[in-house]
Amino acid sequence: MKRIRTCLTGALALVLAAAAVAEEAITLYSHRHYESDQELFQRFTDETGIEVKVVKASADELVERLKAEGDNSPADILVAADAGRLQRAKAAGLLQPIESEALVRRIPASYRDPDNTWFGFALRARVLAYAPDRVDASELSSYEALADPQWRGRLLVRSSPNIYNQSLLASIIAARGEEEAQAWAAAIRKNMARPPQGSDRDQMRAVAAGLGDVAIVNTYYVGLLANSSNAKDRQVAESLQLFFPNQDGRGTHVNVSGAGLTRSSKNPQAATRFLEFLASDEAQASFTQTTYEYPVVADIPWSELQRSWGAFEIDALHLSSLGDLNAAAVKAFNRAGWE
Ligand code: FE
Repeated sequence: MKRIRTCLTGALALVLAAAAVAEEAITLYSHRHYESDQELFQRFTDETGIEVKVVKASADELVERLKAEGDNSPADILVAADAGRLQRAKAAGLLQPIESEALVRRIPASYRDPDNTWFGFALRARVLAYAPDRVDASELSSYEALADPQWRGRLLVRSSPNIYNQSLLASIIAARGEEEAQAWAAAIRKNMARPPQGSDRDQMRAVAAGLGDVAIVNTYYVGLLANSSNAKDRQVAESLQLFFPNQDGRGTHVNVSGAGLTRSSKNPQAATRFLEFLASDEAQASFTQTTYEYPVVADIPWSELQRSWGAFEIDALHLSSLGDLNAAAVKAFNRAGWE
């Protein structure tokens, strides 16, 4: 009898502890799908007692949901793997300003909204992965140079509804204007090894399989392939070389995973603590090791793999421009026939 009572007391204590943890909670709408995110969020909960509930869906679904739910939305934070999406969520009135000196101090101006409704927390570059037995690095220079007829039938890149391509084209519009950007998209479409299909990882698999010679991909996908549990994918990564375009000009196009404070948030203070956690040394270092994303905060050491890719010049374009120019990019893709 005594033993049973001890067990019951123990069980009651556990329930009370759970209740204490659950007292404060925030809800994230996120389309990131990494187990390491869950582990990182758990560390935040351990440190602060604030529970993190994650609702996962596609980025478009989450934005539609925020619009439909309005002020009744349970969401505190919208996480998106593209600054353009966050900027569009802001334009749709779905975000509110975050008050945090730490975020403004730690995150460079070009990686956050000037009105502080969203902040980038992890960076990637859109680079070229090429087959070194068929391409010499001296033949590569810029995104623009891939429009040259020498690349006819040799390029691999995904379809244009993909936000990463839309943001890349938005950066080209910012640098060269709509007309030139559309002509570039049409020339790239002509140079493709096959009609656009599949993911960034599929483009690299296709280069390794000899379908084409150069793929346009985000850096972290190279890291994910290189560290895959699938031996074939590790071979794909091993067989390819990376090239960072536009090093002699404006720099390589980059983008961020970022987080915005929703207008509906009932707990902006806890949400702000969470955003500050994403910019902490601990979280920033974690992204370099788990998802192979670059830190946005200065002086955070890169992973060994990132160091092997080398340092590079970054296009200084403010990332909010990617959202502002998104509609123009979609129009240019459609007119160029890049499906
Ligand atoms: Fe991605």
